[in-house]
Amino acid sequence: MIYQIVTYMKKFLIILLISQSVLTAFCQQPAESETAKRLYKIGLVNIKTIDTTIVVNLKYATNDNFTGENMYGDFCEACLQPDAAEMLVNAQKKLKETNKNWNIVIYDAARPRSVQQKMWEVVKDTDWKNYVASPSRISMHSYGVAVDAGIVDEKGNAVDMGAEFDEFTEKSQPRHEQRLLKEKKLTRQQVNNRLILRNAMKSAGFRSIQNEWWHFEAMTREQAMQKYKPID
Ligand SMILES: [Zn+2]
Repeated sequence: MIYQIVTYMKKFLIILLISQSVLTAFCQQPAESETAKRLYKIGLVNIKTIDTTIVVNLKYATNDNFTGENMYGDFCEACLQPDAAEMLVNAQKKLKETNKNWNIVIYDAARPRSVQQKMWEVVKDTDWKNYVASPSRISMHSYGVAVDAGIVDEKGNAVDMGAEFDEFTEKSQPRHEQRLLKEKKLTRQQVNNRLILRNAMKSAGFRSIQNEWWHFEAMTREQAMQKYKPID
């Protein structure tokens, strides 16, 4: 009898461990998070409600990010201000014009300032501090107008961009692409994949930046400050 109970408990424990690891690897909660509900109230849009083909994989809602910790708790919805959300849907359409089986994947979208603060606490005493915006300068993600995006292929695998999302090396920086190509540290294919992403995003009106291949902004900082309040 005791043996049976122990076996049963072992099984239960294994199931529990598996379900927990699945939860931390993929954010797929059935109910909407309190944070998302709060963002909807102030006008932000959940991308999934306007386009079901765009893939959402918020890295800070899992342990798979540079901090090694889930920064978002149960918040795993990709939310943007309505104009930025509409632009992203257009970018997905533009991508499909050139690569019809590929989809945009969102690694991060609206990011509350409280999370920015939390990230800063994690990195402020490490070598990573130069890569994370100090909370005193409000991130464009906290205005809900910036999106971190990549591309996934027809199987759902990330298309090779030559550097991972949030990889803190020069390979992540578009400003070095041409030199890295000559030095054979990036392949022609990897640079082309980035161009496909950038072209789709830019033709929908997004602006890219020079130091992160995945980061795009729907407007200038001045426009964002005029139009929207930062999200706490
Ligand atoms: Zn970003």
